[in-house]
Amino acid sequence: MHGLSRKGLLVGSAALLLVGLATLGLRHNDEIKTIRWPVMGTIAQLSLRGETTRGEQIRPLVQKTYLRLDDLLSAWNPDSELCRLAASNCPDWVTCASSEVKPCYAAALKLAEQSDGAFNPRVGTKLRELGVSGGSSYSDFDLGAIAKGFAVDIAAQKIIQTCTNDLPDLLIDLGGNLRVVGSGVWRTGIRNPFDRQGPYVGVIALTNGESVATSGNYERFIERDGIRYSHILDGRTGEPTHGIAAVTVVTPAHYGALLADGLSTTLFVLGPQNGADFLTRHYPEALALWIPDSPTAPHIFASKEMARRLNYVVWPLDTLER
Ligand code: AMP
Ligand code: MG
Repeated sequence: MHGLSRKGLLVGSAALLLVGLATLGLRHNDEIKTIRWPVMGTIAQLSLRGETTRGEQIRPLVQKTYLRLDDLLSAWNPDSELCRLAASNCPDWVTCASSEVKPCYAAALKLAEQSDGAFNPRVGTKLRELGVSGGSSYSDFDLGAIAKGFAVDIAAQKIIQTCTNDLPDLLIDLGGNLRVVGSGVWRTGIRNPFDRQGPYVGVIALTNGESVATSGNYERFIERDGIRYSHILDGRTGEPTHGIAAVTVVTPAHYGALLADGLSTTLFVLGPQNGADFLTRHYPEALALWIPDSPTAPHIFASKEMARRLNYVVWPLDTLER
């Protein structure tokens, strides 16, 4: 059994995760059963509505999936495939990686190319130098910005394959990367990055295989000489990012949790204006919101469709007209 002390790929930090989202029931009388357990330095969660006893049947399948992917993709385990590839002179990661993780490498490299390096899986060395991310990963290649989302997609696939005729009404969550399985509607609350106990900043309903991911600045950072360093770097400069407290991205089923995760990190680096342009050009079906790092005058930037779907918004909201 892997406990909290194990540093995992999926987080890249000893600190306990970043969950910017919370699950809310759709109606007051909904019975939702939630199973939660620690894995790979973060928290895995399954929320079920209806036949809630099925959670304990599904959980081993999901856990097995996460542990297998951790063995392949961990930057913290020198024996992982990722670390072995990093140490080898394989000219093309997608070719050299095991078939089950090729899509994760491919998506990371594609995002890097599309964002002109703002998303950059080769930030490992710099993160180590800064002492962000735990400071002792074994690989310069770091898929921590995308691998949790990928793991959620694979877990969803396995559940769908296993429960062909009787799909559960389920929400998967791995460290703030959520994906709906089945046709139920799940309301997720977007947390206030400045006050974790405070009311939600907004609520969005997800359904039909949609995913949501949040990248945030407030739980994982280091402070040196009074300066707070983000765990998200600008991949073009290697410098820690400034100015954004949190980004939330919603994606349709065919983009998956993989892209929700990868995009939340990319859009964190790009910021609202460039980020909205980036989405229009490359991922027009993704929805995003940015919360600038201004706790004294909190506000939100949202892409058009995000603004349309967001409910119970507590702060002023600027819609990015693209
Ligand atoms: P997330 O919480 O999904 O935004 O992922 C953050 C993690 O991604 C960090 O802890 C680093 O391991 C990694 N990372 C940081 N900056 C970048 C970047 N510019 N591109 C890709 N990965 C990054
Ligand atoms: Mg991410």
